[in-house]
Amino acid sequence: MSSPDLTDAERQAVFEVLKTPDLSMGPQIRAFEKAFTHFTGLGHAIGVNSGTAGLHLCVRAAGIGPGDVVLTTPFSFVASTNVLLFENAVPVFVDIDPRSGNLDPVLLAEAARDLTAGGERAQKWLSRKGSAARRALKAILGVDVFGQSADWDLIRKVANQFGLKVIEDSCEALGAEYKGRKAGTLGDYGVFAFYPNKQITTGEGGIIVTEDARAADLMRALRNQGRAPGDTWLSHTYLGYNYRLDEMSAALGAAQMLRLEELLSKREQVAAWYGERLAEIPGVEAPFVEKFTTRMSWFVYVVRFDPAIDRDAVAKQLEACGVPVRPYFLPIHLQPYMTERFGYRAGDFPVTEDLGRRGLALPFSGVMTEEQVEFVCRTIHAELGKLK
Ligand SMILES: *Cc1c(COP(=O)(O)O)cnc(C)c1O
Repeated sequence: MSSPDLTDAERQAVFEVLKTPDLSMGPQIRAFEKAFTHFTGLGHAIGVNSGTAGLHLCVRAAGIGPGDVVLTTPFSFVASTNVLLFENAVPVFVDIDPRSGNLDPVLLAEAARDLTAGGERAQKWLSRKGSAARRALKAILGVDVFGQSADWDLIRKVANQFGLKVIEDSCEALGAEYKGRKAGTLGDYGVFAFYPNKQITTGEGGIIVTEDARAADLMRALRNQGRAPGDTWLSHTYLGYNYRLDEMSAALGAAQMLRLEELLSKREQVAAWYGERLAEIPGVEAPFVEKFTTRMSWFVYVVRFDPAIDRDAVAKQLEACGVPVRPYFLPIHLQPYMTERFGYRAGDFPVTEDLGRRGLALPFSGVMTEEQVEFVCRTIHAELGKLK
């Protein structure tokens, strides 16, 4: 489905670390973090050992605790909701824009109004099994899906109106731009992730960026077993975690950051090859790019099939032809542990479910060749023809 893009520069960078005794919390993580304050223009970057860990620390820094309500999207990778459950907060889902797959700001505003007024939504979602909400609306956790920013100006307007913290899950959008501003810098805290399928990789890893110095200090302590500045190795001011990013990973990440522009433009080229070819295949829609997206950072390439086409049947045929594909996303509210805990049902978030039914991620990475893209598209065309 995907492949990291590594050169000898990355291999050498990791090898150099192994010649030193500093394998954790040394110069490499500091350099990696500096690359991110430089890249985003924000004051603070905190390296962690996964994107999920980064999001979890944002939840802690935002003061989100048991029973607090957070508005978020059901159309995402599960981690964006899981980090709320880690703190026994209550995620209240808001459906998405049918074209981009990102949070619908109009529905978001409605939900915030409704929740604070104790309206229908409050009754419906907060009374559900397992929610135990104190009904304090605390924050918005938005996601930049597939490498495209949500409509953050409108989301922030809702946040400002209701006094909410904003967490931007930019784990899929390193390098994306919204009205000329960088994804990850549009909320109070932003998070990037570096699993091998992301735009840059550290193996496992993530980073938080923020302008909030107090939150940054807290998150630095929490990633390091709750050790505040001044604490010794065995004294712990806070309940913390081991979310540290090791030096080999940080060195790999810093070497990848030096190639970021190259990595992003290779992905852009592959997306362009797909776009040209898919335009000629009836029944298949290429990803939608918003006008406010001044730069798309291609993370995955998710096409959408016409509702009349059986997506799962196409997927099966493509797999049989040697083209790996994946339905994308399976809605979070319909995951077994979510239906079990909150009693969600099919039909609760129709736009999310519709995209979940029609979307298919094609093989995608910056190292794909034009011939490979051509093969994938020719196979889709041929297999769609056989379905009819
Ligand atoms: C990749 C990703 C994460 C974090 O993933 P990790 O595997 O924990 O690094 C979080 N949210 C979204 C939307 C993602 O795509």
